[in-house]
Amino acid sequence: MKCIPLVDLAAQHSEVADAVSAGFARVLGQMELIGGPEVAAFEREYAAFQQVAHCIGVGNGTDALELALRALGISAGDEVIVPANSFIASALAVLRAGARPVLVDCDPVHGLIDPVHVGSRLGPRTRAIMPVHLYGQMAPMEQLIGLGVPVIEDAAQAHGASRLGRSAGAWGVAAGTSFYPGKNLGAYGDAGAILTESEAIATRLRALRNYGSERKYHHPELGFNSRLDPLQAVVLRAKLERLAQWNTRRAEVAARYDQWLSDVPGVRRPAVLTGNEHVWHLYVIQVLQRDGVLAALNAAGIGAAIHYPLPMHLQGALAGLGYRPGEFPVAESRSTQMISLPMHPHLTIADQQRVVGALQRALKAAH
Ligand SMILES: *Cc1c(COP(=O)(O)O)cnc(C)c1O
Repeated sequence: MKCIPLVDLAAQHSEVADAVSAGFARVLGQMELIGGPEVAAFEREYAAFQQVAHCIGVGNGTDALELALRALGISAGDEVIVPANSFIASALAVLRAGARPVLVDCDPVHGLIDPVHVGSRLGPRTRAIMPVHLYGQMAPMEQLIGLGVPVIEDAAQAHGASRLGRSAGAWGVAAGTSFYPGKNLGAYGDAGAILTESEAIATRLRALRNYGSERKYHHPELGFNSRLDPLQAVVLRAKLERLAQWNTRRAEVAARYDQWLSDVPGVRRPAVLTGNEHVWHLYVIQVLQRDGVLAALNAAGIGAAIHYPLPMHLQGALAGLGYRPGEFPVAESRSTQMISLPMHPHLTIADQQRVVGALQRALKAAH
């Protein structure tokens, strides 16, 4: 029996293969292998798609977040508030900028960062809040911005998402995003970008990503080498043309899961925060006896997974922050119950029926 993968990058590639080949040929024809017209064109097109003034392509999403923090002058002694239930890169970016990630718990209904908890952790050293638009839906930005601290969005899972009609990346002072292959807009390797409305921040970032240089061999400040590769820009341009359509198909997949799981006992379906246009990077359900259910799904050839099995405060790498088990109870309990079901634009109805059938059998067996 054929396996049903969590994501299907081969199916995506088959749609863009011709455009990618033609683009690679353009790059190789010009031999402009760093920066150049493909990168500039993608930055323009992606900024327009997200309805943000500036896009600065960089090497990956973690760098994007770190450079956004650095461009705002955040450094040692500063604190940045980050949700405990995210991919570790959100906290790593803060640490690499030299600042301290201050973790907060999430909302029990939708799992997004809880603005009440954020408010209770604000202090004299708080320099920014970094909400994560988890699984493809935006954090309650209007409430976070209302707290009066600069907001840097982690928009890695939110390509095409919006809240109250305004796109991810258009709310904060800056947003870092990732084009890791499995994201809704994925490259064929590592890639990332920062979005910002601010001309000044954009100029700063263009220097920071390029050895701290605006003029060749002149380096007024310490910079990095973190650039978006032109071959990746070709891939991203080809996929960006299809992103809206692919996100629509993801929403159709999510709607079918919602419908088919509505009367399955023991399954909590993902909740969408009112006002959000969700782009369904992941479809994450919650079940009791998660480990048994997940093992049964995997044994049945269903590529279900966990995002993420350990909240950040329980990661060994972040032990130095001094958090203890039990400190973020919502993030912890969700991490023991969550399962990501296969979710991608090319998931067929027949395969989706197989996923739901296997889930029903796994739930019965687990009881
Ligand atoms: C993928 C991801 C990142 C990091 O992106 P990379 O390109 O892998 O460095 C950061 N934050 C979140 C929420 C992500 O999902």
